[in-house]
Amino acid sequence: MERFDGQAAVVTGAASGIGRASALRLAEEGASVVVADIDTDGGRETVDLIERAGGEATFVEVDVSDTASVENMVDVAVETYGGLDIAHNNAGILTGFVETTGIEEAQWDRIVDINLKGVWACMKAELPVMVEDGGGAIVNTASEAGLVGMGGLSSYSASKHGVVGLTKSVALEYAKRGVRVNAVAPGPTKTNIQSGLIGGPGGSSLWDRVRTAVELVKTAIRTLRADYDTSAMREVPMDRIADPEEIAGAVAFLCSSDASYVTGHTLPVDGGQAAD
Ligand code: NAD
Repeated sequence: MERFDGQAAVVTGAASGIGRASALRLAEEGASVVVADIDTDGGRETVDLIERAGGEATFVEVDVSDTASVENMVDVAVETYGGLDIAHNNAGILTGFVETTGIEEAQWDRIVDINLKGVWACMKAELPVMVEDGGGAIVNTASEAGLVGMGGLSSYSASKHGVVGLTKSVALEYAKRGVRVNAVAPGPTKTNIQSGLIGGPGGSSLWDRVRTAVELVKTAIRTLRADYDTSAMREVPMDRIADPEEIAGAVAFLCSSDASYVTGHTLPVDGGQAAD
């Protein structure tokens, strides 16, 4: 008997990285998974991986910043699997490093639309279905940047702080209606998102690209060198970057009955960063 036998799950941003790892983990533990992403090729690849491992999954194309597209995603879950028990609202993007005064309005809107409004849109569509089904579990992906400030990433950090506040508030609204709502706050994790730093919406000028390149090199040195200084060590106390599967393990815990008395929390999965 697996923890999610007979349950239906939706995972956004499941074409790669943390979302793919989460979709695979939930399926491995018995859930039928709706793999949702704007990236159709990557999404279908995730479905393929799940099916080859003996799991059940279906792909749906979604743009989480578009409420109609999100409603369709939840409709597909209900039509395909008869309901919705689990949702991992995970899709997100990252800007390049740019100071606040250098952020264009359209860049700001794009980050907030996907990272924050997208999570709201998902929950707005998922909650009524879960309540009708007798309850469920939602996990939103925040970030370490949702717990502390990050210079040069203010729009991203603001969107992720928003996810933390949204998670707490919705958890309170639905605590008596059987839906638990939590978040994970990953630290640096080996995924494609770092590629968004270069040439991303906030990194278009030459200066931004140079700053980005410098930050990436500094991060790589801090992470890889065995003899880095102690201030760098404080940045990731466990001295390494996470694998996406390590975030997926925390998501699975929060979705499971092992977390039946946990709601409204954001769990840092960050090698100790939040403790520093
Ligand atoms: P990733 O780029 O591998 O995955 C993000 C996925 O979201 C991609 O498959 C992408 O196609 C999808 N996506 C982007 N915009 C979308 C949209 N409008 N609609 C639907 N799907 C969309 O990166 P990841 O690291 O796996 O990111 C997953 C989440 O984890 C994000 O919310 C990110 O902010 C968060 N996070 C990542 C890290 C890290 O270091 N990797 C750290 C903290 C938080």
